[in-house]
This record gives sequence, structure tokens and C-alpha cells, in this order.
Amino acid sequence: MPHQPLIVSGVEVTPLCDAVGPMGAAILRPMAEMFPGAGLAEEPWVLHFHCFLIRDAAGRLTLVDTGIGAAGSPASSWAPVPGSLAGELAAAGVSPADVGTVILTHLHSDHASGAVGDDGAPVFVNARHVLQRADLDVVGGAMRDQVITPLKDLLHVVEGDTEVAPGVRVHLTAGHTPGHQIVRVGDVAVTGDLVLHPAQLADPAVPYVYDDDQELAAATRARALGELRAARAVLATAHFADPFIQL
Ligand SMILES: [Zn+2]
Ligand SMILES: [Zn+2]
Repeated sequence: MPHQPLIVSGVEVTPLCDAVGPMGAAILRPMAEMFPGAGLAEEPWVLHFHCFLIRDAAGRLTLVDTGIGAAGSPASSWAPVPGSLAGELAAAGVSPADVGTVILTHLHSDHASGAVGDDGAPVFVNARHVLQRADLDVVGGAMRDQVITPLKDLLHVVEGDTEVAPGVRVHLTAGHTPGHQIVRVGDVAVTGDLVLHPAQLADPAVPYVYDDDQELAAATRARALGELRAARAVLATAHFADPFIQL
């Protein structure tokens, strides 16, 4: 377990490092092209892929995102599968059956694929899987067939901002995908792909080439980061090398 947990307001937030590596050839571009205008290097971007485990004072467990998944997952065309989520959870003393809530920040293959195992069955059998309606409405291809369809009875579809477990709220932050959501618990915000690279903290207008709607994503990023900065929140980031950033 390469990253340390953070404890805030009686809630423990543990980063689970699912993988580290550059994107595969299918979608690989230099960083300078991934984040136009940010002045980044003409080198591949080496990403961490983080999920986060939230353990509240009563011991309830919420998992935010499920990573890149098994060897044959929808992320296998471009991400360093298989992910290490199962081992990371075990290192945190948690069995998948202990997780009561899974929150999927969005339905990209590196965030949701690990909800289903190599056998095609759900991994977190006792968990509601919270996702936004707007992402479910547009998901297709392998993500629908290999992830959403097997999860069917475990899906908990929400629209907009809502409390999904005691003290755990989701906030719709559309742009990266139509139904992208971030998670707030205490002073922590688990940000999914609201921000992909630290350059976007300095300038939220820096676009990310794989945002679905770059203009909306930039506006959402500026608004959400402004609110989080005013709240002096700690960001729990999916792809930064350091999972926690104090704004
Ligand atoms: Zn990491
Ligand atoms: Zn994404």
C-alpha cells in the first residue's frame, strides 16, 4: 500500500493505488497534447489510478471508484490491467463483501471496470453502486455489456446532489462526462476526473483532451474548485502521484 490514509473529523479515507503507468498505445499522446496550453512536457504522462475507501466512525465502508479491473476488462485496451484493488483492499483489512456502498464517479473504464471480476460477476456483492442517471443514459459498448449489465440489481441511480450514505454526499459535476460526480465527506472531496493533472489546479481553464465537453468541464472545474478552496477542502485525486492535496 504505497499511500497513507488520512483521518479527518472521525472519518478515515484510504487511497487504494490500483495501478501506476502511462496510457497504452491506443490513446497515448504526449502530455503537451493531453493538456493543451499548460506548458507540459512532450513526454508520456505517467498516471496513478486511485480508488478511495471511506470508513466512518460507525465502521461503515464506502468505496469510491473501482479502478481498471481484471485482465479482460474494458480498460484493457489502454490501461495497465489487471488492477491491484483487491490486494490494496486486503492490505487495508477489508473484504469486498464488507463494502456497503460503491460510488462510481463516472463510467469511464478506468474508474468503474473493477466493479466486475474476471468471471463477469459483481465483486462488491453487498454494495449499492451509486451512479448518476446522466452517465447511465449514455453508456454503451463494453462498459454497458461487461460492467453495467452484470451490476443490474445493485445499481443505485441518482440525479444531481444527494446524500448516499450517512455523511457522504455526491455532487453532480458534469463536463468530463455528462453524469460525472464528486464525493464530499467531512473536509475531503474525492474528485474523480474533475481534475486530471496538478496544472489544472493552477489554471482550471486548462482543457483535458478526453473531456467529453471541454468547455463545460472547464466551467465546472473552475466553479467546483472555487467552492472547495473556500471550504479549505482536501482533494483526494484519482490520477495525481500524491493522492491528497490541501487546497
Ligand atoms: Zn498511487
Ligand atoms: Zn474519466
